[in-house]
Amino acid sequence: MRVCVIGTGYVGLVTGVCLAHIGHDVICVDNNEEKVKLMKQGQSPIYEPGLSELMHSCMKTNKLSFTTDLGAGVNHGEILYIAVGTPPLPTGESDTRYVEAVARGIGNNLQEEYKVIVNKSTVPIGSGDWVRMIVLDGFKERQAQTLGEGFVMSAESTPVFDVVSNPEFLREGCAVYDTFNPDRIVLGSSSEKAIAMMKELYEPLVDHSFSYDSTLPPVPVVVTDLSSAEMIKYAANAFLATKISFINEVANICDRVGADVTQVAQGIGLDSRIGSKFLQAGIGWGGSCFPKDVSALIHTAHDYGYETELMNAAVKVNERQRVIVIEKLQHELKILKGKVVGLLGLTFKPDTDDMRDAPALNIIQELNRLGAKVKAYDPIVSQSGLSHGLSGVIIESNVEMLADGCDALVLVTDWQEFLKLDLAKIKKLMKNPLIIDGRNFLPRHAIVEAGFHYVGIGH
Ligand code: NAD
Repeated sequence: MRVCVIGTGYVGLVTGVCLAHIGHDVICVDNNEEKVKLMKQGQSPIYEPGLSELMHSCMKTNKLSFTTDLGAGVNHGEILYIAVGTPPLPTGESDTRYVEAVARGIGNNLQEEYKVIVNKSTVPIGSGDWVRMIVLDGFKERQAQTLGEGFVMSAESTPVFDVVSNPEFLREGCAVYDTFNPDRIVLGSSSEKAIAMMKELYEPLVDHSFSYDSTLPPVPVVVTDLSSAEMIKYAANAFLATKISFINEVANICDRVGADVTQVAQGIGLDSRIGSKFLQAGIGWGGSCFPKDVSALIHTAHDYGYETELMNAAVKVNERQRVIVIEKLQHELKILKGKVVGLLGLTFKPDTDDMRDAPALNIIQELNRLGAKVKAYDPIVSQSGLSHGLSGVIIESNVEMLADGCDALVLVTDWQEFLKLDLAKIKKLMKNPLIIDGRNFLPRHAIVEAGFHYVGIGH
């Protein structure tokens, strides 16, 4: 099928590349010229395991191309994805201006051919109908320009298109795998024709003909109305964020009563009603989705006169948890002014270069405020030289340089390479052998045996 994906960030680029890989003809559109230039040269502007390789092979077979020309993309696609960002506003609402610009641009370029417009961006509940309205406004604008101000839209001249909400659930760091192996596909629309086209588009994913394991049962497809599909995305993220805040709260009690949250999590996670995922205590949730999606849902509820007690509490627990390592550092080192703290990892999770709303940012800010000198090493941020607008932190290019002269090391991101630290070498370089493990990830016994003082979360 002919597909156009508008917005080539973590979601749009992965979606476009994966759809091209399963045989569709995909044009990806982005208004960032630098990005498009890079992608045309076969370079991915984001770090995502497996993405570059797949991108190259799809470009070679002419299944995938990139442009800044929205009109060309809209003309090409029978299915048009909106996959632009919906960052948070200071009020907590979603900033939908990028979605609006794209919807208007689609309207400006619509011709006679029927199109399915797919909202892949996470948008506030009710946005499906709003997108429809904006597309029609954009269409009217163009008609008025070409046919004169007196243009009145009739039933015959109204463009034919349907809007589908198709929320994305991929995880950064394994986005390609997740796209080929989704737990479910959610399609929200009142149009049977649009749903049928979306099912045809996703058939190779549903029957796993392109997945890593073709023996798996078919992927469930949830067909629902627009608002329910939009709500599914918010409710899923709010639930997962709450689950993490729950185990973090349990960890803080464990710290006080002398229990071990890792074992507690294992003990409760084996209950099939609870499940073991998202039960790892640590320094809280972050990234580009959970914080903004939970805030947006709280905001929507508020708009409709409902106070979200549970979600408010999940956010509050998370805010405190993000700087829990500061409390632990103060407990161990007392005064932080003049101390040197080294952060192992910066990104909000491993295998991504995404620093949006990463807990590291709060930790750096708080350590700076308390007068500590902050250094950091992150496998991606350090190697790529990307500063990510970071201030108040010295970026080191390897773990040894990070450890040199440190009063404490704090594990912020659970990158696999931190499991292979040369503990003897690091201990010699540090001023004080203290490791705070913000993710309960490091080999505790080996660290203690190597002569460090080890402090985890909730044990
Ligand atoms: P992103 O910021 O990485 O990418 C957005 C892209 O859209 C950028 O490349 C930007 O240049 C482009 N863009 C903005 N305005 C444009 C326009 N008018 N025309 C063309 N391109 C334009 O965003 P993302 O992380 O990929 O997220 C996209 C959406 O998907 C958001 O709504 C997000 O909440 C949702 N989502 C993200 C994830 C994730 O893990 N990142 C997961 C699920 C859902």
